[in-house]
Amino acid sequence: MTARLALAASPLFLDHAKPGHPERPERLVEVRRELERTSLLAEFTPLSVREATRDELLLAHEAAHIDTVARLVADTPVMLDEDTYANEHTWRASLCAAGAAADLATAIMRGTCDRGLALVRPPGHHATPSRTMGFCVFNNIAIAARAAQAAGVGTGTCAGATPRIAIVDFDVHHGNGTQDIFIADPSVLFISLHQYPLWPGTGWFDATGEGAGVGANVNIPLPPGAGDAALKAAFARIVLPQLRRFRPDLLLVSGGWDAHWRDPLAQLQYSLAGYAWACRQLVQAADELCGGRIAVMLEGGYDTEVLAVGVANLARALAGRDAQDDPLGDGGMGETNAGALLDRVVAQWDAGA
Ligand SMILES: [Zn+2]
Repeated sequence: MTARLALAASPLFLDHAKPGHPERPERLVEVRRELERTSLLAEFTPLSVREATRDELLLAHEAAHIDTVARLVADTPVMLDEDTYANEHTWRASLCAAGAAADLATAIMRGTCDRGLALVRPPGHHATPSRTMGFCVFNNIAIAARAAQAAGVGTGTCAGATPRIAIVDFDVHHGNGTQDIFIADPSVLFISLHQYPLWPGTGWFDATGEGAGVGANVNIPLPPGAGDAALKAAFARIVLPQLRRFRPDLLLVSGGWDAHWRDPLAQLQYSLAGYAWACRQLVQAADELCGGRIAVMLEGGYDTEVLAVGVANLARALAGRDAQDDPLGDGGMGETNAGALLDRVVAQWDAGA
């Protein structure tokens, strides 16, 4: 059966901008151009985009955080923190990014579509319960996970009362905000693959959760230069076994293409082919574990060609196709051996972390 694909996107996400900043509207412009060029866009049904409600923001954030952002954006342009800018359109874009993510996840949980993609800005995975961080205002994927849990209760797709959500974050930076929001929550499994050391400095593998959430936080801190070999080994040895152990009702993905070798912000050195392989693995895992229910939320990725082709490859994976495009190759980079690091992560989990 052909998967029913949904796309949450809107021109209003282009209005959030600061000249010269790497998190720029052209990222989405180039993605859309590539999805049109490849005719992939026509395979997705558009979702209408609306602002998240205050109650939805409160699913992941403290009231003081929402109020602080609302106060600061009253006088734009302004920096919300050392990295995160706001202009006069940022408040609306941020609310709509969270609303789009929540609507996509709930539509999948309710069965009105099977798989989906949220092409939103600003990104979300660094936003913590109490503050903006790293270009992120509100944590879109965390709000989506909580909204999906609320929507999924009683739908018949879940064995228990609270749907189990797995979040895989393959952005090159650690998803510290998502980790913080779910650190003590056993109903949400968070798995982050990221470069370490790298900003924001969190994400070592010994952070496995707190309280009832111990065992539901999986960090895979890969060394600079790790490349596709480490990505594939990390999936085979940790990501896929952890997903099978957890058995989610819905798989959410923080998609960041800044681990590519040509990205200007980091040095993990994946190729587009490696990324495409990972996307297919996640779609197959959703098919195996949770009725094919998977939604991807856009996070980082600052080389626009890499991002555009990478998202197109993701769209092909969501459509169930093995085809992929990689005009850039592997960059001729040597690959750092991450085997010893992965051995330590596997040993920790085998010991019952
Ligand atoms: Zn990133």
